[in-house]
Amino acid sequence: MFRLAVAQFEEAADRLALDPRLRERLKLPQRALIVSIPIRMDDGSVKVYAGYRVQHDTALGPSKGGVRFHPEVNLGEVAALAMWMTWKCALVGLPYGGAKGGIRVGPEKLSRSELERLTRRYTAEIAPLIGPEEDIAAPDVGTNAQVMAWMMDTFSQQVGYAVPGVVTGKPLAIGGSLGREDATGRGVVDVISEAMQRLNLKMAEATVVVQGFGNVGMHTARIVHQTGAKVLAVSDAKGGIYNSGGLDIPTLISRYNSKTRPLDDCKVGESMTNEELLQLPCSVLVPAALSEQITVRNAARLRCRILAEGANGPTTLEADRILEDQGIFVIPDILANSGGVIVSYFEWVQDVQKYFWTEQDIRDRLHAIISSAFQRTVEFAQTRNVSMRMAALMSGIDKIAQAHLARGLYP
Ligand code: NAD
Repeated sequence: MFRLAVAQFEEAADRLALDPRLRERLKLPQRALIVSIPIRMDDGSVKVYAGYRVQHDTALGPSKGGVRFHPEVNLGEVAALAMWMTWKCALVGLPYGGAKGGIRVGPEKLSRSELERLTRRYTAEIAPLIGPEEDIAAPDVGTNAQVMAWMMDTFSQQVGYAVPGVVTGKPLAIGGSLGREDATGRGVVDVISEAMQRLNLKMAEATVVVQGFGNVGMHTARIVHQTGAKVLAVSDAKGGIYNSGGLDIPTLISRYNSKTRPLDDCKVGESMTNEELLQLPCSVLVPAALSEQITVRNAARLRCRILAEGANGPTTLEADRILEDQGIFVIPDILANSGGVIVSYFEWVQDVQKYFWTEQDIRDRLHAIISSAFQRTVEFAQTRNVSMRMAALMSGIDKIAQAHLARGLYP
């Protein structure tokens, strides 16, 4: 994944004719911390897990990025995700740099108390790097509002007072924001409807396919269904379900439980594999699970008009070229899934100001920021004759480069 992030960066840097010294710096993280996290298991034994926190860049302000708990987390993946966060925040105009963290663990294998001890010890280990003015964490794959609450509490216990602004995506009771839970999915639907308008397509006639049914995938399916579009299929790690007449998403959500009741047991459609799902004819395909799902092996078989990347890094470099040849309109990850960090920024602003907004305010401001970023990216792509992905990356990278050049080289 790090190779993918660097290859994308190199191509954008070439097109921007980026200063070679700056290029060397931005290719690598600014700081990376590897931690060993020993925790006592419920049976009395002790296990040690590997954890990471990477800050890619802090030229514009504190770094910002999620924390992932997944058995395949590694330093390269976390560094790639941190780099993408830098470009994403710059693209949509937030005063942040990019960061990411993670623990190499399958959280579903831990009891609740083991998960809490793991989260708290991880937070204590990375505490020297994080803080509301330094580096702000958020949920990602395998983490949620509860994990953020434990991180916030652990950090606050260490400094001796409540510090809500050290994490976003936390429960409302401790300074979370209205509208954060479904912000990424809402942003995905905002940019889908911008793209539909651009291509003269109607939302009410659209067919949508969503891979992944976690925070991003489930809310995307729910909100796009509310617009009148038909959601033909959704999937999770165990497989997918399909209904040619459109899935009844509210019923599906009320029956689904990722631990006890799989999608194909919810009786709203027929089972389908993840690979079949990616190849369904549809107006919009939303990969909202893990990275590198669209590769040379399946890219030529995609049958969508729009690819809206809810996940980070779902498309490989080689697959990107195939999608371009096929004329698929790609809404790249750093634009399509930026709703999460945009509302995280709102949450942080509210925490710092101790003044909270209404949910309608949050939705309106999210819509204004993400739609304008979409329009700017389309214009950039047209003026510079590059793909939407290249346009988004080049805009983000250029902003960071300008910040570095203005600040100069210390000492
Ligand atoms: P999540 O853990 O809530 O959900 C992940 C979903 O993907 C689950 O339904 C899981 O079963 C499914 N999945 C896992 N492996 C799969 C596979 N091989 N095939 C199909 N489905 C699979 O995670 P999330 O927060 O929804 O994040 C999903 C993606 O969106 C990640 O790439 C993440 O980095 C990105 N993202 C998340 C946010 C956010 O606010 N949560 C913001 C921006 C980007």
